Amino acid sequence: MDLYFYNTLTRQKEKFVPIDPGQVKMYTCGPTVYRDIHIGNLRTYIMADLVRRVLEYNGYSVKKIQNITDVGHMRRNEENQEAFDPVIKSALERGKSPLEITSSYTDQFLQDSRRLNIVDADLYPKASDHIPQIIQIVKDLLAKGIAYDTGENIYFNVGQFAAYGRLSGNTLEKSEKLLEAVRVASETDKSDSADFVLWKRVDQSYLMKWESPWGLGTPGWHIECTAMSIQYLGRHLDIHTGGEDNIFPHHEDEIAQSEAWTGEKFVNYWLHGGHLLTDGEKMARRRGNVYLVQDIVDRGLSPLAFRYLTLTAGYRSKMNFTWEALEGSQRALDRLCAIAASPPDLPASSPDTGPLIGCAEFEERFLKAVGDDLDLPKALSIVWELVKSDYPVRAKRASLLRFDRVLGLGLDKSSIPVYQIPSEVADLVKQREEARSEKNFDFSDTLRRKVEDLGFTIEDGPSGPKVHKKTL
Ligand code: AMP
Ligand code: ZN
Repeated sequence: MDLYFYNTLTRQKEKFVPIDPGQVKMYTCGPTVYRDIHIGNLRTYIMADLVRRVLEYNGYSVKKIQNITDVGHMRRNEENQEAFDPVIKSALERGKSPLEITSSYTDQFLQDSRRLNIVDADLYPKASDHIPQIIQIVKDLLAKGIAYDTGENIYFNVGQFAAYGRLSGNTLEKSEKLLEAVRVASETDKSDSADFVLWKRVDQSYLMKWESPWGLGTPGWHIECTAMSIQYLGRHLDIHTGGEDNIFPHHEDEIAQSEAWTGEKFVNYWLHGGHLLTDGEKMARRRGNVYLVQDIVDRGLSPLAFRYLTLTAGYRSKMNFTWEALEGSQRALDRLCAIAASPPDLPASSPDTGPLIGCAEFEERFLKAVGDDLDLPKALSIVWELVKSDYPVRAKRASLLRFDRVLGLGLDKSSIPVYQIPSEVADLVKQREEARSEKNFDFSDTLRRKVEDLGFTIEDGPSGPKVHKKTL
């Protein structure tokens, strides 16, 4: 079946045609790992995962690369150019090195990605491992006369790249908006305000810095994605994804420096996801309005309920996050899990080994919806039509499991929905084990009741206590 994606570059839905038949080269801008990765970031990564799953459902083999941004911001805070980010500051005060900070946030990102059933990328390259490649690109751009060195920074000369602004609409003619978006207080040395940094000379006070032909320095923000995407996927990619804030300047600048460097078209399809909001405002660390996957778990809800929630809105629309909506998604997910786990409604004598015949009519419509620029709200409405239909449970279950190859709700694994144990409950269980080992049984009973009040039960066994969610 034909697949369609909305391409930010052409501002229209386009039929997907891969560069190489049957194969897709896909790059997803990854997280900055010196701060928490929140569920807004993860909404964008779920979107990229859905793109990948829809492609695979349609028989493509997908190579997906997602970078880890672990350089570049270790000195300055986004708001206050001279201060440390508070998270970094406190980590440093606790004696952690930059590498320890970035690797612990990378672990958190990978764990949360997996809790959301995001299929692992083929590779998660780190910016800090690609400094030689970045330096080579900057050298080549200087040699071509497209970059210039002010003695302080090396800039990309936007005026040298005729197609600048094609992705975002921020062309040099519309420079007011452009200037507003790229104004950086410390960059007073560039020839044109629209130019952007490729390499920055830094002093010893920077935590992450590298030797280069231009002395000690650190890469500009955009160049790492050019270096890593081209290294692992080649000069011409099929699909590049990110959140809507990536369109400008990040992706606009990626196109400029990549195409200026290779002389070829960089990406065929640019896909951007809408933001997740809290109370109508973009969820963002510096606004202090973020939630983490662990917050969801700590409320006794499943991370996959969040995945379900993201499927209820078009991926390009903004979506307001509320706990009520998440609880509604949990209930919906529980129902689907119950059907996926239900015993086949066949006479007792029939073996449950026959072919899994699904509901062809529904499957056809589902495939069409997800292929139509990932119309997941429509796909979900088809799922519920199927659930309410009078097809036998066995057939419903077979179709649901097939749909789940795209939805990624973990229906195949769950005899009951997969709940994680909130940290509060885990702590109580641990304290109870300690109380039991000290034979303090009154206290251990009190702790058991506290766990039950939080909606969980404890089953003691030879291999230690098992914790279950009390009711569905
Ligand atoms: P960052 O770590 O800020 O570079 O963000 C990582 C990814 O998350 C980027 O693709 C952003 O576009 C995306 N992103 C950041 N905030 C949100 C949000 N509130 N909703 C959806 N995506 C977001
Ligand atoms: Zn990027």
